[in-house]
Amino acid sequence: MLSVTNLQVFYGTIQALHGISFEVREGEIVTLIGANGAGKSTTLRTISGLIRPKEGKIEFNGQDITRMPAHKIVQMGIAHVPEGRKIFPNLTVRENLLMGAYTRADKAEIAASLENVFARFPRLKEREKQVAGTLSGGEQQMLAMGRGLMCKPKLLILDEPSMGLSPILVEEIFNIIREINRGGTTVLLVEQNAFMALQIASRAYVLETGRIMISGPAYELQADPQVRSAYLGSI
Ligand code: ATP
Repeated sequence: MLSVTNLQVFYGTIQALHGISFEVREGEIVTLIGANGAGKSTTLRTISGLIRPKEGKIEFNGQDITRMPAHKIVQMGIAHVPEGRKIFPNLTVRENLLMGAYTRADKAEIAASLENVFARFPRLKEREKQVAGTLSGGEQQMLAMGRGLMCKPKLLILDEPSMGLSPILVEEIFNIIREINRGGTTVLLVEQNAFMALQIASRAYVLETGRIMISGPAYELQADPQVRSAYLGSI
């Protein structure tokens, strides 16, 4: 579904990605894990068209999207839920969700998507008219994910959904990711919480300073001594 080949990205003269290649197949949850500054967010932002790579190719369902504008990439079926959620704090929950459907015109379909999101996140339904800035961290994460789902994506890209959440909420968010995936949406997940990410992913890639160092089925990485000592906090 998504194929990334030899991605090289620079910020000014500093090279952030040194030739990243990976793929996401339809129906999978794939995770990119790695320490702070490894290049995970940069990879996601490049896929979504927010950063232009110097070299490399990104294909989505066989189409080259490397230099497509970001809104076209959304229309192709890729939704990006950014790190830090980036909700609109002064808008209501409902208004935030409708912003996620900005590329769509059919009112009946938008209403149906809204109902789907409310069915998936009953807590958002309860707070439909609440101003988003007053939501708890977990609710804001649900809102950001709900907004991503409003464009009916084929591929949902999630950047650090567990950031700043309590362990119980992390569990809840990961369960929701699993459900979204079971509902037919392919997921590309970036996480610092490697333990949780490897539990729900089918495959994983480990990034270090802009390079993929290890890759494989998630259960294999969970057992890999190098991954365990560097990312899972055990020897
Ligand atoms: P984190 O989990 O901390 O967000 P990350 O793995 O997502 O880490 P990136 O944010 O992609 O890492 O950063 C990769 C590298 O690029 C880092 O060295 C970072 O300092 C640098 N970088 C990121 N954004 C910019 C920017 N806008 N300008 C200059 N350098 C940047």
